[in-house]
Amino acid sequence: MHKYSIGIDIGTTSTKAILFNDSGEVLEEASVGYPLLNPEPKAAEQDPDDIVTAVKKATRIVIQQANLSPKQINFLSFSAAMHSLIALDEAGKPLTASITWADQRSEKQATKLKETNGQEIYEKTGTPIHSMSPLVKLIWLREEKPEIFNQAASFLGIKEYVFYELFGEYVCDYSIASATGLFNIHTLDWDEEALKTARISKEQLPRLVPTTEIFTNMKEDVALELGLSSKTPVVIGANDGCLANLGVNAIESGVVALTIGTSGAIRTVVDRPITDPEGRIFCYALTENHWVVGGAVNNGGMIYNWMMEELADVEIAEALANNQSPYDLMTEKISSVKAGSNGLLFYPYLSGERAPLWNANAKGSFYGLSLIHKKEHMMRAVLEGINLNLYLVYRALETVIGQPEKIHASGGFAKSPLWRQMVADIFNTEVHTSQTVESSALGAVFLGRFAMGELASLEEGIKLIGTAEINQPQVDQVEVYQELIPIYEKIGHLLESGYDEITNFQQKFKPIIKTEDFIINLAT
Ligand code: ADP
Repeated sequence: MHKYSIGIDIGTTSTKAILFNDSGEVLEEASVGYPLLNPEPKAAEQDPDDIVTAVKKATRIVIQQANLSPKQINFLSFSAAMHSLIALDEAGKPLTASITWADQRSEKQATKLKETNGQEIYEKTGTPIHSMSPLVKLIWLREEKPEIFNQAASFLGIKEYVFYELFGEYVCDYSIASATGLFNIHTLDWDEEALKTARISKEQLPRLVPTTEIFTNMKEDVALELGLSSKTPVVIGANDGCLANLGVNAIESGVVALTIGTSGAIRTVVDRPITDPEGRIFCYALTENHWVVGGAVNNGGMIYNWMMEELADVEIAEALANNQSPYDLMTEKISSVKAGSNGLLFYPYLSGERAPLWNANAKGSFYGLSLIHKKEHMMRAVLEGINLNLYLVYRALETVIGQPEKIHASGGFAKSPLWRQMVADIFNTEVHTSQTVESSALGAVFLGRFAMGELASLEEGIKLIGTAEINQPQVDQVEVYQELIPIYEKIGHLLESGYDEITNFQQKFKPIIKTEDFIINLAT
């Protein structure tokens, strides 16, 4: 009898359940969405019960679609978005929504913490000091909403909330824990100094378990509702970023995963926790001997889409009327301009920036405009700017892990041959693309197979994931970018000194915009 496994990915906009057969092929998938709410400026929250409902629904749908009996399900394994925070009262009832990574209300607290013991805590916890971090959110909650903070009996993230619903216990895997800013990556326990800084106690946090921990005691009523047996093994799994590395076959040394979707990230795997003296990179656990280090940027595909809307709306409308893909049209326009956009630079910081600047006030700019530049130059400069910014993060990573040999591409950008080639040329490294679509759910299933003893190692498992395309760096283009990169970096530094001033001006004379426009942009 065939055995099937289900990878569940609890994401920011939806939960996906994907059913794989025993050779790793996708048989069924279901996605159930939920809104990102912004009850006040800079908030980005979700109703945790919406997410529980979505997890149950997506799981039930794939099992029903494949017409499987509980006995045919080998295991479930979970991936989830990082950095969420929920406060619960004595009775386990939520006092807050699930405050997501995109919530920016604790920016002030992040800045203050950086000026005190932030770097020390970062070196112990591997989570950069930023408004995304649950540690920083806890300080914000204490300072801005003390009535909630003081009433809270416990604090947890969305995955732990879902597991409580399934098993009636507060448990957190090392991977999700390592992205809270509260977990010591060297001792694999909650960190005393971080807890003291947040002014919470260990008793208020979930029990910690390895990412390979298996649960076989699902609540009977929930198992029935999902179409499972209460004994069906459930592997707790890891966070979505770490699992994406596994799912695109980027866990061996020298291999870097580059994801560009709405935002972007560069990650690689090392065998022990590593931090950066300048606090630029994160370090999160996949297993006790696979640590994912890297940097995340805000400004990925959303900037490409902004450029398309602002610079090519008319042309795109025409293309759509002629059944041409807008992305093909952009490829045509961008390819008509040479590498380096005739010296036009673009800094993509339209939504502030995490790595490499860690500055919420950073702003976007074109630099070097002259009368020879046309719209097409601006289009190419935007794409180059997104990639050059990611390259700076890659370089910071290189100083910590050494020169990478190849890049594995994933996220929306991997669909574009032009974009992949530009990355190969700017990074001067081979770019491999696999056919994997849902890399975090696939990663969850590989981790699950390892946990279940079906694979001797994670490395053995990922060999099954092949490469569909390879882009090699082109020497003539590489030469241009190698000359441009130091200029891009130097001018980027010069611009930094003006970001606070221009932000103050913009805030003083700001137009009336709905904050939800911004939040939705960030999350889709
Ligand atoms: P999410 O972060 O929501 O998972 P995706 O990984 O689906 O996002 O990536 C979406 C982004 O990928 C879009 O914003 C767009 O910039 C880019 N993208 C998607 N398809 C293409 C394509 N064919 N060519 C170029 N860029 C693309």
